[in-house]
Amino acid sequence: MSEKIERLKTLIIGSGPAGYTAAIYAARADLKPVVYTGMEPGGQLTTTTEVDNFPGYPEGIDGPSMMVQLQQQAERFGTEVRIGMVTAVELSDTVGGIHKVTIDDSKTIEAETIIISTGASAKYLNIPSEQRLRGGGVSACAVCDGFFYKGQDVAIVGAGDTAAEEASYLANICNKVTMLIRKDYMRASKAMQHRVQSIKNIEIRYNTEVDEVLGDQVVEGLRMVNNQTGEKEDIAITGLFIAIGHKPNTDIFKGQLDMDETGYIITKGKSTKTNKPGVFASGDAQDKEYRQAVTAAGTGCMAALDAERYLATVETPQETV
Ligand SMILES: Cc1cc2nc3c(=O)[nH]c(=O)nc-3n(C[C@H](O)[C@H](O)[C@H](O)COP(=O)(O)OP(=O)(O)OC[C@H]3O[C@@H](n4cnc5c(N)ncnc54)[C@H](O)[C@@H]3O)c2cc1C
Repeated sequence: MSEKIERLKTLIIGSGPAGYTAAIYAARADLKPVVYTGMEPGGQLTTTTEVDNFPGYPEGIDGPSMMVQLQQQAERFGTEVRIGMVTAVELSDTVGGIHKVTIDDSKTIEAETIIISTGASAKYLNIPSEQRLRGGGVSACAVCDGFFYKGQDVAIVGAGDTAAEEASYLANICNKVTMLIRKDYMRASKAMQHRVQSIKNIEIRYNTEVDEVLGDQVVEGLRMVNNQTGEKEDIAITGLFIAIGHKPNTDIFKGQLDMDETGYIITKGKSTKTNKPGVFASGDAQDKEYRQAVTAAGTGCMAALDAERYLATVETPQETV
């Protein structure tokens, strides 16, 4: 006898601020959402000790605690949170169609609507000292963590527009910013290059890479290496920012959803609608511009409202005139 396939009204993929906010709204609208947490329950904020800029926490809060609270808030209204990875999807092209989803390469479920909140992962250099000091002075988010280095000397690695923008952001807060660029030129737009070059407390080092991040528990310095001469140099810093790009976690949707060249899901106008009816995208998976917890939460809310409205039109079809 074949097993009955479970059908959900709303499936939420991902358990970061976007996913849990979508869940709060969807549960309160009686969409009976199920959240699959993925490989990082709670999302990116579980990797940071201090969140100071999420509204409603006047004293700040550590990332893991904030995400537990968001989960509890979603569960309070009946959200079901399940541990598991979505490993494949078969998205319907039809309005009112049913989407098929595979969990952990084994179980199949069906969903009337899907909210994608799979986030984006920051790229790191992947050298041992950098990995050891993540959260101890090594960060991939200058806007999030720059404030903690106010008046101090920091370094940033990267040569693109984001790196240039983050370098100028840090220069406003920090005493000195050393910018390490692997090649002998900057990839950032000319306008951004001029901006960075004109800021007095940014020192740009071309042909320079990180050899080792120095420090036991926290960052105390940086050993840089000139990739042309092999010459090494130590500088004292307290923060190292890695700005070499992000990878949206959207591979499982490739070929089915419209994406930009780097894999960010494209949404329609000011909505969270994708090119598939009943499939909505929120958070960092569709936002390469802002990538903040509060913006992720905002679009999570939008996705749940979009899903609710979509279901209302599907369940009560408009009469044709
Ligand atoms: C070190 C660090 C510090 C930060 N500090 C701050 C800060 O202070 N303030 C701030 O506003 N922002 C901060 N950010 C940015 C913030 O964390 C992100 O903007 C935010 O988490 C994005 O939320 P999201 O819900 O879109 O995705 P994420 O938080 O990335 O969550 C993605 C979720 O999707 C799940 N997932 C992925 N693929 C699958 C799959 N196939 N199946 C099921 N689940 C899947 C993951 O397991 C995860 O739960 C920081 C980021 C980092 C890395």
